[in-house]
Amino acid sequence: MDLTLTPQEEAFREELRAWLADNRPGPEPESDEAAFEFRREWQRRLAADGWAGLAWPEDYGGRGATLVEQAIFNEEMATARAPEVANVLGLVMGGPVVIAHGTEEQKERYLGPILSADEIWCQGFSEPESGSDLASLKTKAVKSDGGWVVTGQKVWTTLAHRSKWCMLVARSNPDAPKHQGLTYFLMDMDQDAVQVRPLVQITGEPEFNELFIEGAYIPDENVVGGVGNGWAVAITTLMHERAGLAFGLQVALKIALGELITLIREHGLEGDPVLRQRLGQLYIESEALRMNAWRGLTQIMKTGVPGPEGSLAKWQWSDINQALTEFAMDVRGPEAPRTDSDWTYRFLRARANSIEGGTTEILKNIVAERVLGLPRMR
Ligand SMILES: Cc1cc2nc3c(=O)[nH]c(=O)nc-3n(C[C@H](O)[C@H](O)[C@H](O)COP(=O)(O)OP(=O)(O)OC[C@H]3O[C@@H](n4cnc5c(N)ncnc54)[C@H](O)[C@@H]3O)c2cc1C
Repeated sequence: MDLTLTPQEEAFREELRAWLADNRPGPEPESDEAAFEFRREWQRRLAADGWAGLAWPEDYGGRGATLVEQAIFNEEMATARAPEVANVLGLVMGGPVVIAHGTEEQKERYLGPILSADEIWCQGFSEPESGSDLASLKTKAVKSDGGWVVTGQKVWTTLAHRSKWCMLVARSNPDAPKHQGLTYFLMDMDQDAVQVRPLVQITGEPEFNELFIEGAYIPDENVVGGVGNGWAVAITTLMHERAGLAFGLQVALKIALGELITLIREHGLEGDPVLRQRLGQLYIESEALRMNAWRGLTQIMKTGVPGPEGSLAKWQWSDINQALTEFAMDVRGPEAPRTDSDWTYRFLRARANSIEGGTTEILKNIVAERVLGLPRMR
């Protein structure tokens, strides 16, 4: 692992910093609706200057950035506290999956509107009875004239209420072994057979939804990667979900640590040896995360595809972020439960960190079996 940047990588960082200096997005509006439009506008600006599909090949509207450049990008965005993009699932998962497994027609049809955030994407994987054990999912797709009729229920579908397309995994062959009977579809959300009901989180936000699918129609041309190949395509999606995360997250943690120190000082607790010890421990852990992010990157550079190391970083990050936000609540003492503070919001939102994108227990299994090479449990 070589942590020194090349002159080209340094130039990339400088170019990005200059762009960010000229394109400061300003503060995000309060209301959900306005905040979403703000993120859409932000993504459009990024896309217009070639910063949206950073890792995508240039032929598909991306920048063809190297992995190190992507890492630099994530670091700089976090440092600048840039807003999230509106179509995060489309950019991080949908686009890469269509690029890896899609037909030329699919690439032509879908990639442009993902980049510009004109069409928002969601991920319809989890079901009430199938989360960690995704391959057991029951939503069924039955062959019909020129397409498929889909019936079932999905849950925790982030951004479904704003989405045009859903990356949907459904059981197309009930007689095949469970991993082989699945197909990956792009489902048009804009049909009466798809009902979206919001689920309000502990933070009060309706960030995700339940999907009730009662005979939705999906044409054959919206199958990605071939009928019966849904598991392999879904795994590509999940690997991309975890791969690029670590760099932005470790910078965001460092920023949050700085804010925590300010909070400790505001409460006059900076001399407390127990708090100092706890803070030091968090700092050490966030440094370890940074090093692991580089280690994961080195692995991807060797093998060409994101590997299981992304799971380690995601697990570490959720542990540290939860510990950090709990620490802030302790420092705030009796005022901690007040909901008008950003710290309370962060504390509540952090509860989901060890569940979303794969639970910590599942990530530990992946690290044990596929990073450390320990024997499989099952
Ligand atoms: C904020 C948020 C956003 C989300 N967005 C989406 C989305 O957009 N699309 C989508 O499809 N899903 C989404 N999810 C769902 C998420 O992927 C699932 O919640 C997650 O995979 C866990 O599945 P589950 O909730 O069914 O829990 P379960 O799989 O039922 O797990 C319950 C508990 O058992 C443990 N467990 C299960 N199996 C094992 C095992 N083999 N070994 C050890 N422990 C085990 C788990 O770790 C957990 O503690 C989101 C979740 C959250 C919190």
